[in-house]
Amino acid sequence: MARQRPSTADYEHKRDFRRTPEPSGGPAGAGGNAGPSRAGERSRRGGGRPRFVIQQHDATSMHYDFRLEAGGVLKSWAVPKGPSTNPADKVLAMPTEDHPLDYAGFEGVIPEGNYGAGPVIIWDAGTYRNLGDVPVEEAIERGHLSVWLEGQKLTGGYALTRIREGRSEAWLLVKMKDEGADSRRHPTSTQPESVRSGRTVEEVAAEEGRGRRAQGTGGGEGEGAGGRRGPKGTKSARGRPRGSAGPGPQGS
Ligand code: MN
Repeated sequence: MARQRPSTADYEHKRDFRRTPEPSGGPAGAGGNAGPSRAGERSRRGGGRPRFVIQQHDATSMHYDFRLEAGGVLKSWAVPKGPSTNPADKVLAMPTEDHPLDYAGFEGVIPEGNYGAGPVIIWDAGTYRNLGDVPVEEAIERGHLSVWLEGQKLTGGYALTRIREGRSEAWLLVKMKDEGADSRRHPTSTQPESVRSGRTVEEVAAEEGRGRRAQGTGGGEGEGAGGRRGPKGTKSARGRPRGSAGPGPQGS
């Protein structure tokens, strides 16, 4: 039972943290502005429960990134249709690379030219309980887990089951039948706003995209909000390529 090192190398290799505001998540000093991410200890908040987050991400195609804290990282799936509260819905979930725990707090625009370019909001967040009898990481390896979410929008049991292995590994995310189930709710449509800021993903794109355009025209260094972003890319969020008919979401 040796403890494994967090497996976020894949996450880090895909990103240039001088060009994206996403957290580097690396050990202290590894990346420019990486504050030491005491994320492991942070997980003891919330009554000792691990966290979950669902981030809506308008990248090459719109999707929702479903992430569970486990083993010192965020185990992640990209859910093109978004989570459902209807137990009859079997929602496709494509596994993506482990993300650092700090990513649970990320909301903003990934600039054009970067992996997963596009706006991200924290669509739902909270804590969860493992409903299975093996640790979550082991359950993921085995291909089935069930968790009880305590979010602001989603509550109750959700089951994740691997339906395909190999290079096109795929899972299904299904609401379990309990008091959190409701076939009449459609929270991705009726509650589109961030639980962090109240903004929709479109509003985040408009606000932060405008900031980039304005900066590009002058020589000013002023950066409006949040001075911890790296150098800005040259392109705005305007005219992002969309719906290139490819399968599955690009970038997680
Ligand atoms: Mn994503």
